[in-house]
Amino acid sequence: MLNLVTVIGARPQFVKAAAISRAVARHDGIGEVMLHTGQHFDANMSDIFFEELGIPAPDHHLGIGGGRHGEMTGRMLGAIEAVLIEEKPDWVLVYGDTNSTLAGALAAAKLHIPVAHVEAGLRSFNRRMPEEINRVLTDHVSARLYCPTAAAVKNLADEGVRDGVFHVGDVMYDAVLDARERARESSDILRRLGLKAGGYSLATVHRAENTDDAASLHAVIAHLERVAAERAVVLPLHPRTAQAARQHGVSLAALTVIDPVGYLDMSCLLDGCVDVHTDSGGVQKEAYFHGKPCVTLRGETEWVETVEAGWNRLWTVPGYKTPRRPISDYGKGDAAELIIANLLGAGA
Ligand code: UDP
Repeated sequence: MLNLVTVIGARPQFVKAAAISRAVARHDGIGEVMLHTGQHFDANMSDIFFEELGIPAPDHHLGIGGGRHGEMTGRMLGAIEAVLIEEKPDWVLVYGDTNSTLAGALAAAKLHIPVAHVEAGLRSFNRRMPEEINRVLTDHVSARLYCPTAAAVKNLADEGVRDGVFHVGDVMYDAVLDARERARESSDILRRLGLKAGGYSLATVHRAENTDDAASLHAVIAHLERVAAERAVVLPLHPRTAQAARQHGVSLAALTVIDPVGYLDMSCLLDGCVDVHTDSGGVQKEAYFHGKPCVTLRGETEWVETVEAGWNRLWTVPGYKTPRRPISDYGKGDAAELIIANLLGAGA
């Protein structure tokens, strides 16, 4: 029996872990213990994803949310270590680039438990982003590095990381394929908001670089207001951005602001929108998966293939680079299956 401990804590990780947990359930000889750090704790940022995506309930919930980066990561490190000593897993699985990712990877590596990093190798080359620090450090203590793109494999090679690197595709594509039909059948979000498919843009904003100071948040909201002059802009408001808007006195009155939504409502909003304006990593790709053009509200993106294929542009750039064409990097919706098969092959 191969025993995994999966460390998750933030919204994008629930989506990725859902795809992996489904693959785990399809195989005998592999078991998964869920550890939720508590980094995201609001019901609509956490619980709803477990319910809608059928993620097994956490076996361990650390309740560590809020606080400064160092403080949060440090508290997680100690608490995750205690769980790993108790559970004695063969592998620890971590996802993406949050403080939970780094704390999980570091706790495991220090105990000589091999780490598998799902969504390895992404780089913005902007070391002021907390996510970039988390990614780089996690990759360098991981034994298995599961890359969603060819660019990610190259980024790792450029840093001298070549062993245990596999280009498996993107587990978020697996998640989209699993949920899209179900969402179309079950979500009535457009009706609730009084919107029509093809009649609105979808936006998300939560990166620290856009929320931490008043001028940056003003600039992002001014961009969305220009879009709103043409059509409604739906903004499911991240708690960090809500707090920043209050603190900096930034009005969101021109936008259709709603609470953060569950994954199925989000899938429907993506399905029905004209285009996407976002600083989220996941949402940039989901725009492509749903066949929608995207404007990225940042100075760089880790998902360079979306730009190269004409689906995405930085908001600092006036037009798309090329006519839109398909992207092969993200795989066929079997990334989670490939990861579990690879781990089973690796053994304990
Ligand atoms: N998401 C959601 N509801 C929302 C906003 C986002 O379900 O109100 C989903 C989104 O579809 C994607 C994930 O959350 O699957 C992305 O998370 P986020 O943007 O918080 O993180 P990032 O991808 O930037 O790390």
